[in-house]
Amino acid sequence: MSTEFPIGAFQHVATPFYYYDTALLRATLAEIKRATADDAAFHVHYAVKANVNPTLLRLIAEAGFGADCVSGGEVKAAMAAGFPADQIVFAGVGKSDWEIRLGIEAGIHSFNVESMPELAVINDLALRAGRRARVALRINPNVDAHTHANITTGLNENKFGLAMEDMEAAAKEAGSLPGIELVGLHFHIGSQIEDVETFVPLCERINDLQQRLEAAGISLPSLNVGGGLGIDYRNPDEHPVPDFAGYFEVFRRHLHLRPGQSLHFELGRSVVGQCGSLVSRVLYVKEGHQKKFLILDAGFTDLVRPALYQAHHEIENLTSRESRKETYDVVGPICESSDVFAHGLTLPAGHRGDLVALRSAGAYGEVMASSYNCRPLPKGYTTEDLCPDAE
Ligand SMILES: *Cc1c(COP(=O)(O)O)cnc(C)c1O
Repeated sequence: MSTEFPIGAFQHVATPFYYYDTALLRATLAEIKRATADDAAFHVHYAVKANVNPTLLRLIAEAGFGADCVSGGEVKAAMAAGFPADQIVFAGVGKSDWEIRLGIEAGIHSFNVESMPELAVINDLALRAGRRARVALRINPNVDAHTHANITTGLNENKFGLAMEDMEAAAKEAGSLPGIELVGLHFHIGSQIEDVETFVPLCERINDLQQRLEAAGISLPSLNVGGGLGIDYRNPDEHPVPDFAGYFEVFRRHLHLRPGQSLHFELGRSVVGQCGSLVSRVLYVKEGHQKKFLILDAGFTDLVRPALYQAHHEIENLTSRESRKETYDVVGPICESSDVFAHGLTLPAGHRGDLVALRSAGAYGEVMASSYNCRPLPKGYTTEDLCPDAE
């Protein structure tokens, strides 16, 4: 099920642009459904911040997934794409009043509350709207996600969530507020987690916390374990679909759900990461004294992950038929020395005008684009957009 690029159709599209392989997305969604089919308690919410392309959102909503949002804008985008409001969860350390009001009025599934002052404001705004807001308390479980420091969120103490030692008092407070209905606990330890065993200590921590709450007479209708399942950036064609079966099995085995309790997941990268590529053209092949450079028309304004997290994306020359190989630094046009996609990469000899794909760019790619240097934002096209007769 690896991506095949409609190179003929690409010739008519201005570069750089994002290409989304909807056949691969459909296969990915089908695998998630297959891997959770036996667990009526499991609910998967798509983490909208990974990619908000309207066609992708629609396909994910049609497949029956909920949404995980981190801003009012995302709640609006999710509802516009067809996600039912009562399957939307809303996290974020700094929710504005209008965003909270929007969630209350829409009747979202729950707010993931990250601080006590936020809980008080939600209570207040819910009472003013004549409603009760459903909330889950986001707890910082102090579990190491073994991933890049910039995308670790579960270690003590950071801006996300409540400390474990404050959980019981927070749960009691939530239970006493008339505008609040406490529906569960929420956790999210980080992103691009490649070893699913990393989630075992999270499950054990949750079991322990749940027992503590029950001992205090508090039971919870739901648990939410966040997202974070990684993708194989080095081998997108060998592993186009992540190991969802192995991932869900960890929770099935290690997390002790109570009868009737629902378990919520918030998956972003693992859903859309592999279906997207950033497609760019070679502007110049520059022969330096020690190095050769492939200078692309895409830069970190289009795909910031390499500059921001030293992230690796496989790079493929879609045009060159040269058997001769060359070693290049693959760089963008932005006036910053961090605008480099790869150092010393061996590729078929390249030429001005070649189309190049930066693979595994479906998550945290297009959504993080900026217009620095007054550059236009890249557009995103799906298989349906470019090849309307394909399916
Ligand atoms: C970003 C985020 C996710 C999704 O993370 P992925 O690594 O893309 O699966 C889930 N939950 C919360 C609260 C997040 O902030």
